[in-house]
Amino acid sequence: MLECVGYGATTASTPVAPFSFNRRDPGPDDVVIKIAYCGVCHSDLHQVRNEWRNTTFPCVPGHEIVGHIVSVGSNVTRFREGEAAGVGCMVGSCRTCAACKEGLENYCEVGFNGTYNGVDPVVGGPTFGGYSDRIVVDQHFVLKIPEGMDLAATAPLLCAGITTYSPLKHWGVGPGKKVGIVGLGGLGHMGLKIAHAMGAHVVLFTTSAGKTEDAKKLGADEVVISKDPAAMAAQGETFDFILDTVAADHSIDAYLGLLKRDGTLCQVGAPENPLSIAVFSVIWRRRSFAGSLIGGIPETQEMLDFCAKHGLTADIEMIPIDTIEQAYTRMLKSDVKYRFVIDMATLPKAA
Ligand code: NAP
Ligand code: ZN
Ligand code: ZN
Repeated sequence: MLECVGYGATTASTPVAPFSFNRRDPGPDDVVIKIAYCGVCHSDLHQVRNEWRNTTFPCVPGHEIVGHIVSVGSNVTRFREGEAAGVGCMVGSCRTCAACKEGLENYCEVGFNGTYNGVDPVVGGPTFGGYSDRIVVDQHFVLKIPEGMDLAATAPLLCAGITTYSPLKHWGVGPGKKVGIVGLGGLGHMGLKIAHAMGAHVVLFTTSAGKTEDAKKLGADEVVISKDPAAMAAQGETFDFILDTVAADHSIDAYLGLLKRDGTLCQVGAPENPLSIAVFSVIWRRRSFAGSLIGGIPETQEMLDFCAKHGLTADIEMIPIDTIEQAYTRMLKSDVKYRFVIDMATLPKAA
């Protein structure tokens, strides 16, 4: 076993704190990565507080992982020692179902192996995420970091980047399309950058008036304060596609009403409680309310290459790991600009 140190939660009501654990011995298909940076996704917070009621404790979160390869197994041909590499939300899947064969491991019919709060695909038992010193991952689930990308600012692409890129691409966002992004947090700011780079007219919806100037710099053609009913009404029935990244209770009908005929509102934000919809919001104008879950491995690599080509990374605030609970508190107040990234050099050597 590989003895690891990290930060984890032992119950839903105790803070994330130093935690030691074991990972499987690396096998012939495995890559061992020394983690340099890990992004802080709002899902980490939902999960350690058991807001989705499916957390297995102890829980070591983190699925926006970037680091350097320290060893590779005998079957590994795509990676070599010393190279930078990334790991996102998945570390395994069945690899044989129709979804996996299409490169949509995120929709694996038997369920993918989550990077944390999942089941180890080789030895069973819980998976532990990127708030830690090292990780052992099958080469298929390891991503290449394009040459020249800033590693810390690239980490958030492994979840926030792919979770927004995948639906924007799936629903044909590009030139001539009017696209809304709801919420300017980790996902939202990447969605904004990517939709802009895809050539769409992008409108950012925010509850935080203070983020207006930043949103314009990040690529918004227009910024709408969603608490202003007149500003919302002025956007009525004009959108082809809206991507909703909000992590808390909010009105879905308010956004469905902004879609044109046959428009789609795609939910990626995953609040704790169910969201309600007035059926006339979708019956009227034949609108769709949809969802999307991260993205497959080939598409994640495509997204990284797209971001490298367009010079896109996340806007980050680097934090030492012992301030993670303060970061969560700020995240709950929408006070993140626009992704916290943990500097893993601040991890205590022995937990
Ligand atoms: P985040 O950084 O906290 O951003 C969420 C943003 O939502 C906030 O910055 C805020 O933006 C807005 N917001 C917060 N509370 C709100 C409220 N009460 N009403 C309206 N807007 C509010 O979170 P994140 O890391 O981007 O994650 C967002 C959500 O996506 C989480 O639920 C996460 O679990 C989920 N997620 C889903 C997937 C997937 O595959 N579907 C993948 C990753 C994450 P403004 O200040 O601009 O209003
Ligand atoms: Zn995430
Ligand atoms: Zn599968």
